Amino acid sequence: AEEFGIKQALKDLGLKDINNGTSTGNDWFSNGDIIESYSPVDGALIGKVKATTKEDYEKVVTTAEKGFKEWRTWPAPQRGEVVRQFNDELRRLKEPLGKLVSYEMGKSYQEGLGEVQEMIDICDFAVGLSRQLHGLTMHSERPGHRMYEQYHPLGIVGIISAFNFPVAVWAWNTALAWVCGDACIWKGSEKTPLTSVACQNIAAKVFEENKVPAGISSLITGDYTVGEMMTKDDRVPLISATGSIKMGKIVAQAVAARLGKSLLELGGNNAIIVTPDANIKNTVIGAVFGAVGTCGQRCTSTRRLIVHEDVYDKVKDAVVKAYKQIKIGNPLDENNHVGPLIDKDAVKNYQTALKKVVDEGGKILVEGGVLEGEGYESGCYVKPAIAEAENHFEIVQHETFGPVLYLMKYKGDVSDALKLQNGVKQGLSSAIMTNNLREAERFLSTEGSDCGIANVNIGTSGAEIGGAFGGEKETGGGRESGSDAWKIYMRRQTNTINYTTELPLAQGIKFDL
Ligand code: NAD
Repeated sequence: AEEFGIKQALKDLGLKDINNGTSTGNDWFSNGDIIESYSPVDGALIGKVKATTKEDYEKVVTTAEKGFKEWRTWPAPQRGEVVRQFNDELRRLKEPLGKLVSYEMGKSYQEGLGEVQEMIDICDFAVGLSRQLHGLTMHSERPGHRMYEQYHPLGIVGIISAFNFPVAVWAWNTALAWVCGDACIWKGSEKTPLTSVACQNIAAKVFEENKVPAGISSLITGDYTVGEMMTKDDRVPLISATGSIKMGKIVAQAVAARLGKSLLELGGNNAIIVTPDANIKNTVIGAVFGAVGTCGQRCTSTRRLIVHEDVYDKVKDAVVKAYKQIKIGNPLDENNHVGPLIDKDAVKNYQTALKKVVDEGGKILVEGGVLEGEGYESGCYVKPAIAEAENHFEIVQHETFGPVLYLMKYKGDVSDALKLQNGVKQGLSSAIMTNNLREAERFLSTEGSDCGIANVNIGTSGAEIGGAFGGEKETGGGRESGSDAWKIYMRRQTNTINYTTELPLAQGIKFDL
């Protein structure tokens, strides 16, 4: 790690050997068990973080409630100005933060920097948004009446995030929620606790300089039991949860039981359809990057390639050839394409998937396996694998969070490919590779892809800040980031004002006293 400057990065981000994992600003405290953070890159202990107890959590929520009462009265553009300054700090600390993301989570340094860039982009977006947050006006049916709608700050937003985007998901939520006037309490993944502390350090400094009340950026740390403190707490009107479908089903029920709002960003099972009119070279780049980038640990990773029989062998050969060139190793070394999986449990899931696909009748095209020897001591480095499989296989129907790509054939036209693509329970990202206008438009039509994201001639993975991000079906239905995703962080109100001396009732009803 040292040759890549990790020690300096930790110092720049204000991290110590043992860190408190609870904060409402600059007041770090925590009385829970110690969580050790080991790097999947080299297996080394990076640092420790103390978890949040129930008592710590109470202090956080009451502080956030109090802070919200003041913060909601700040003009939104002034809140935007705080986010702008926070963004300046992100730009200044982009390299150390990107490096820590890479070292603690295992994605390539370039992708770590890309993740921080997403934080920067959403902050830029949020600053502009702080001067909008607009409602509509409508014409009233009653004479002398004006009707309009407005958006008010919602309250406390509870953010639960996954290990694979340890910093960006927090910013996607907070940058918007802060300009909307909310207080945010974040529980990051217990697998990446140090990146959470680093982010909170950055926010706390800027917030203190701007005299933002305590609690507007709060951090809590721990496993699902700490997450549950928020999901069951009716002082937290919105829970934004990113992670597995299994988690989403539990969180959705807990929040629904108290009639709270939830924003769910759950697993995907993303496919690329490759038609006879596809540009094969671009298809290979899109598919390989989508399947092996972040070691297959993106919610938008390409899991299935659905290829027309006419070009099947050509695509198969090209993808298999491309896999032979993939370099696996230390993700901080920019010569490598693929880093490690997050931990040994993830390695086990990957191995189980490869065994299952064979048991169900699949055929391995590119052999997987766990790498051993020098540079692979953490035990988390695996070979990206490809299997020929059928869509109905049980294992293909599930998201395996690792570099396993399933190749399948379709006959007929795009609607036959769409049956396969839509024939899973998840609905996050999808793509078609074609130069045929009719095929592309069919794919995007009402009878086309049923996913929240549908791309033409680019792969499934990655997204831009400007559009709303999220998926349908078991992916949870939530939308984050751009477009009008901000609305969920506010409470909506319809207002009717009578400026006459009479009181006419709606629908012409007479009520004379
Ligand atoms: P995970 O579900 O194991 O954990 C995610 C977070 O939820 C963690 O912070 C965890 O502590 C918390 N959690 C788990 N159970 C909980 C409960 N009952 N109550 C409250 N909190 C609980 O997921 P992971 O392994 O960290 O991440 C991988 C998964 O996340 C994949 O399925 C991936 O597709 C998904 N993901 C989705 C998106 C998206 O935007 N759709 C983005 C990133 C990751």
